[in-house]
Amino acid sequence: MTGAGISTESGIPDYRSEKVGLYARTDRRPIQHGDFVRSAPVRQRYWARNFVGWPQFSSHQPNPAHWALSNWERLGKLHWLVTQNVDALHTKAGSQRLTELHGCMHRVLCLDCGEQTPRGALQERFQVLNPTWSAEAHGLAPDGDVFLTEEEVQSFQVPSCSRCGGPLKPDVVFFGDTVKPDKVDFVHKRVNEADSLLVVGSSLQVYSGYRFILTAREKKLPIAILNIGPTRSDDLASLKLDSRCGELLPLIDPR
Ligand SMILES: [Zn+2]
Repeated sequence: MTGAGISTESGIPDYRSEKVGLYARTDRRPIQHGDFVRSAPVRQRYWARNFVGWPQFSSHQPNPAHWALSNWERLGKLHWLVTQNVDALHTKAGSQRLTELHGCMHRVLCLDCGEQTPRGALQERFQVLNPTWSAEAHGLAPDGDVFLTEEEVQSFQVPSCSRCGGPLKPDVVFFGDTVKPDKVDFVHKRVNEADSLLVVGSSLQVYSGYRFILTAREKKLPIAILNIGPTRSDDLASLKLDSRCGELLPLIDPR
């Protein structure tokens, strides 16, 4: 199971941390699922900022930790990979036996009909609808946030679902939303089939991931944790390593 710590080494800020996190935020506060679903102005502000940040966010590449896990899968040594990240870096590294617990920024979901479309295609629709809109001039703040004026936000045109006209949302779990029960059940089953659990780059503060530690403990599976700094489950781990993921994982020979 991987968390934000594996992706910070690819240059992606921890989107749940206080000062950074372009993608889960609108203005200075984390975006709330209920606000997004209920309010067209909230969606407009969110998508305007997301449009500006997308070229940089989508350009991030996997680091040696992502490649190591993908390699283990290819060798038949990794049963299932669960990530709390929404950046698609495991997919870019070739991992296939993968559950994205909190969804993925590279997919867009229609809130009405449920159709999934690639985020890259939406960027082109944004550009067609907003040919003269140039918030890029404002650039990124030092903490990765985007400055937009009220005028810029209000003039930004947001497309709707091309199938049904419904509102579009990134296919990610915002604050105030929960992971779908069938997805949680699926991961519980994979944990039950496993002979051990390795946590990489997560402090396990978020319950959606922590619950699988509890399942592993119930099954008396050995738990290993690789994370810089303490985690919520250090006392349950047979092995705890404080190290950079991209430096340590490639050193492990799974054979
Ligand atoms: Zn739709």
